[in-house]
Amino acid sequence: MKKIAFFCIPAHGHTNPMLPVAEELVRRGNAVRFYSFSEFENKISAVGAEFISCDEFLPELTEQEKNRLKNVSTTEMTIQDIRITMNMNSFLEKEFRTFCPDVVYTDSVCFWGKLNAWKHNVPIVVSTSTFAFNQLSSKYMKNSPGEIADMIFGLPKISKELKKLEPYGYHVKNVLSLIQSDNKTDSVVYTSRSFQPYSESFSGHYEFVGPSVFSKKLPDKNKDRPLIYISLGTVINDRPDFYGKCIKALKQQNADVIISCGNTADPGVYDKLPDNIKIYPYVDQLEILSKADVFITHCGMNSVSESLYMAAPMVLYPQTGEQFAVARRTAETGAGIILTDDTAGGIRSAVNEILSSDKYCKAAEKCSMDFRSCAGAAGAADFIESAPHSSDGIDVIDELNISCGKFQAAYWIIIIAIICLVGSFISWKYVWIIGFAAGILSAPIGKIIQEKNYKAIVGRRKK
Ligand code: UDP
Repeated sequence: MKKIAFFCIPAHGHTNPMLPVAEELVRRGNAVRFYSFSEFENKISAVGAEFISCDEFLPELTEQEKNRLKNVSTTEMTIQDIRITMNMNSFLEKEFRTFCPDVVYTDSVCFWGKLNAWKHNVPIVVSTSTFAFNQLSSKYMKNSPGEIADMIFGLPKISKELKKLEPYGYHVKNVLSLIQSDNKTDSVVYTSRSFQPYSESFSGHYEFVGPSVFSKKLPDKNKDRPLIYISLGTVINDRPDFYGKCIKALKQQNADVIISCGNTADPGVYDKLPDNIKIYPYVDQLEILSKADVFITHCGMNSVSESLYMAAPMVLYPQTGEQFAVARRTAETGAGIILTDDTAGGIRSAVNEILSSDKYCKAAEKCSMDFRSCAGAAGAADFIESAPHSSDGIDVIDELNISCGKFQAAYWIIIIAIICLVGSFISWKYVWIIGFAAGILSAPIGKIIQEKNYKAIVGRRKK
């Protein structure tokens, strides 16, 4: 029997996949203490884990901060994460002394879980509720200009906040070292190796366990007419404009439509709903997906995983860079199409495209089979119980960085040689053009070389 401390941020999408894992560990006789927030108490207690409330450590937020969090500002989330860590310091000092966990299982962006495991030298396993993101897989993200500006202008603020952690004994190199997946940390990822982009770049410290869901129920699509399910998840879901367009698009469709609009939206604003459309604040998503023929989704990792698990093809409507990565990978498998035109007409034609061809269904069924063959919560529990894990010594990212570094050195030596030749034999007047062009081209050429080197390294490893 082990004592296992679970840590998570206050978010359904991050908490939900940890629950079946907690349930499995409890079932095996481990003592699981889950540090979370009252909103999640019922869910956590229901799986038999000991719920520890951390509500008192949540900082008071100004209206401006609340708005930034609502708009999923990475800077604001990071700053609040740091503040909670400081607020929880004395409490967690005591908890680590008295509970003495054998392992910490913490969400990948829950700083207080990670930092306290490191500070108290307790083996750590990271719960990754989205794809594992490293320098390769993060290329799948497409951040909006607003997200990019938020990250760039937020960096100085974040660095200032990070410095405040030092006196508490938390040593952080930079924010990336806190959030990015690295090849030395034991990590559980709730997807299959084949769905994870650039999966070969992740070391043996990664366990890809497939979607973490309670239900082993099989999809059953038998019914009189199609079922279309719509949800934008639990975070950025206050979108009456979008639900309104979906209603307009599907009111005459020979199909049943269920919309989950979230607790922040008001289902009362849609008082004259057509008979075929129902709207709720929250639904049993997995149950609905088991019957659904199309899911219009914001592409949260859990929603997409659950949809594929239940073989429901999707209309993909990502709202953030991370969701775009999930959407792009899903579209690559053929199990969904990205919604490029979000007018009522665009929504209708995307839905009809999916309903009119069984290729989307077949692709989703293939993913479902792949996900169901993964180790699931039992695999995650095995991995946590046997942590820490030793590495097989192979680090594709290290190898890749060395080969790409060599390429960059050779590239700039050649450019300098060309500049010298042109300057000496033609004219020094033109050399700045060469330097400027070389600078601009180095990034795209570097990307092509990185891709080529990655394939070569993976190919060599497979032999
Ligand atoms: N969910 C649910 N019922 C709803 C809406 C959402 O059970 O009506 C669950 C869904 O099954 C998933 C989670 O909430 O597990 C949403 O997580 P996701 O990563 O998809 O999106 P987020 O809410 O984090 O944006």
